[in-house]
Amino acid sequence: MPYLPTSLPFPSPSLDTSEFWQHCAERCLKFQACGECGIPRHPPTPMCPHCRSQLISWMDAPSFGRIFSYTVVFSASHDAVINDLPYNVVLVEFDGMDDLRLVSNVVDAKPDELAIGREVVVVWEMGPNGQLLPRFKLRKTK
Ligand SMILES: [Zn+2]
Repeated sequence: MPYLPTSLPFPSPSLDTSEFWQHCAERCLKFQACGECGIPRHPPTPMCPHCRSQLISWMDAPSFGRIFSYTVVFSASHDAVINDLPYNVVLVEFDGMDDLRLVSNVVDAKPDELAIGREVVVVWEMGPNGQLLPRFKLRKTK
């Protein structure tokens, strides 16, 4: 069962984001990076905000990320999630990818288990129309 219902509106792939979603369909979390200066960015854009190059490459996300920030939602902002409260929304950051943040959810965490800096690993959930969505689980440490 997905963390949030598939009836919740999700972004439709655009010209700029379609390749990101194609990688997700293959269970690969990749981020767009500049083909000139190499700086990764998200969401995908047609031009590098650092050097203005339009050359594009893609790089694999590291095997785990960290919670940069998070919130726990107790008040439904959409009817589709009225039965899923409370749920979390996290910003995930990755080593070597400064200034890049991915908005997602941690699917296995109670609100008091979330903390800035906690390590998370990507998991894939089926979204609307069979689209795979990158979500996260807490990284287990020994
Ligand atoms: Zn650049």
